Amino acid sequence: MTNPLLAPWTTPFGLPPFARIADDDYAPAVDQALADARAAIKTITDTADAPSFANTIEALEMSDALLGHVLGAFYSVSGADATLAREALMREFSPKLAAFGSEVTMNAALFARIETLWQNRDSLDLTDEQARVLLLTRRSFVRSGALLEGADRDRLAAVQQRLATLGTQFTQNLLADERDWFMALAEADLDGLPDFVRAGARAAGAERGQSGPVITLSRSLIVPFLQFSPRRDLRRKAFEAWVARGANGGDTDNRAIATEILALRAERATLLGYDSFAAYKLETEMAETPEAVRDLLMAVWTPARAMAEADAQVLTGMLHGDGINGDLEPWDWRYYAEKRRKAEHDLDEAELKPYLQLDRMIDAAFACATRLFGLSFAPVDAPLYHADCRAWEVSRDGRHIALFVGDYFARPTKRSGAWCSAMRSQQKLEGDIRPIVVNVCNFAKPEAGQPALLSYDDARTLFHEFGHALHQMLSDVTYQSISGTSVARDFVELPSQLYEHWLEVPDVLEEFATHAETGAPMPRDMLDRLLAAKNFGQGFATVEYVASALVDLGFHETAAPDDIMARQTEILDGLGMPRAITMRHATPHFAHVFAGDGYSSGYYSYMWSEVMDADAFAAFDEAGDAFDPDTARALEANILSVGGSEDPKALYTRFRGRLPGVEALLKGRGLATVEG
Ligand SMILES: [Zn+2]
Repeated sequence: MTNPLLAPWTTPFGLPPFARIADDDYAPAVDQALADARAAIKTITDTADAPSFANTIEALEMSDALLGHVLGAFYSVSGADATLAREALMREFSPKLAAFGSEVTMNAALFARIETLWQNRDSLDLTDEQARVLLLTRRSFVRSGALLEGADRDRLAAVQQRLATLGTQFTQNLLADERDWFMALAEADLDGLPDFVRAGARAAGAERGQSGPVITLSRSLIVPFLQFSPRRDLRRKAFEAWVARGANGGDTDNRAIATEILALRAERATLLGYDSFAAYKLETEMAETPEAVRDLLMAVWTPARAMAEADAQVLTGMLHGDGINGDLEPWDWRYYAEKRRKAEHDLDEAELKPYLQLDRMIDAAFACATRLFGLSFAPVDAPLYHADCRAWEVSRDGRHIALFVGDYFARPTKRSGAWCSAMRSQQKLEGDIRPIVVNVCNFAKPEAGQPALLSYDDARTLFHEFGHALHQMLSDVTYQSISGTSVARDFVELPSQLYEHWLEVPDVLEEFATHAETGAPMPRDMLDRLLAAKNFGQGFATVEYVASALVDLGFHETAAPDDIMARQTEILDGLGMPRAITMRHATPHFAHVFAGDGYSSGYYSYMWSEVMDADAFAAFDEAGDAFDPDTARALEANILSVGGSEDPKALYTRFRGRLPGVEALLKGRGLATVEG
């Protein structure tokens, strides 16, 4: 029998034929697709014709078409329905795919053709989009070491390999520290904790074979414990263990590993001809340079620190009011901040929840897209990978735009978090290919017959992921490598974070936040309280985040330090870090930066995107209408439809007439008023 992944797909919308695919089909299909891709690349390098954009770059774009199909299907199921068998397949595929990737970028004959095109680029009569694809293709080869020869080439390979090993070790040490530590509690120690924390502590105790409740280092348990426990001694013990992760001495200590990682990264940057690792990393980002990142972070740091210091005084007053002398400590902050939040903005989740029905919030996300971009959504019955998935055909003026799949409920085989992926990306090189886009969330599944209800954070997540989906669905470019969300890391969160703003438009909540039983709209006073509570605690949140981002940047901007912890202290002292706030992620457990390369000298990018989304939404405010048609058209024309076809600074400038400023972000976070 033929492998259904390899036979032509005759399913509606060109979906993978999930009903006929067995797990055993994936590995042979991946092998076949890799063989096809290798053959296609050999055809490129074997041709006697002089290199042209068509016979080299376009041929390379199309070389892994089958691999894209097969992996599009596989990654959908392996992320959202990861059985043990599929996890084993992931472990099998990742080294194979990595090996294939480096085989391509180290293919000297292929690179020689690309380099010839690059040198002659001005005489090739390329469209702007083609010129961009050529630039990005060549750059990714160069950044992988294609220009290196001999000993340098070997050394780079050795450095990469060592970095991969160290990254894995860093993660595993962290997991070991998190797994091993717990604090046993007596029943009386649960006093003052809300039901969900008591239940969590009991469940954690049972999981660890203890007779009573325990607090572990899991963020979802320790943070609420620090918020609610009136026992200062226990808060301190838990907090100190939490911030010591990866720095407990012995086999699982990450400090020497982090030092070695920084040294190897600096060496890699030097081999590739960059001044520093930060310069290497930021070359492909919208920020472009370490200086631009520092300027942004400092513009936010100064007012955030001022607000945090003012908050610290209020909280210290509350501490003294409890009869405790001395300073506010890091293990006190969350506890007193929670008391203050409750006094100033009491918002009962249980009271709010019936107004936030999943189906109504999906309708709200769609309705905003209809008003902004003229899109229509019609539910369709399509064969998908899980019974909980739903699909809609997206169209505009009768023209098919995309298939949108929503996979909203948590299940044990789904990894945590929420994400947007494309089972198929938009492109025109191989025909007018429209995308298949999936939003995956982890909302609690209701009992049969009950409506699914969301928290406000859940509703925001739904809008966020739908913003990524629009970036994929409205894409209108020729080449897949730059389509949809294939943009710089510090640009990719712009459409998603921007879309969250429409959830906060009072019209939208008034229409779609209706009570699950009575159908009544959310009372105005609840709506006001909900929107007012949003900025509470922003001084603290901004300081702990920006401190981490500035340490990340500082580490990668200069020569690697001999003593990484001393360097961390030096950077924080230089900033005037408030004494009762610690970094959101201290170095020995800063997995974003040390577990892999993804966010190294890139932790700033969340804030960078937030600056842009606040500034971009302000364009609608300035037009006096959250659904202003001209502004929506400009957003689609310059950002949502063009993927990575141009430099992000140019795209943003075309949308807004200028680059983003931090003012809208400071205002949005409630920080504007404290700037000294
Ligand atoms: Zn996102």
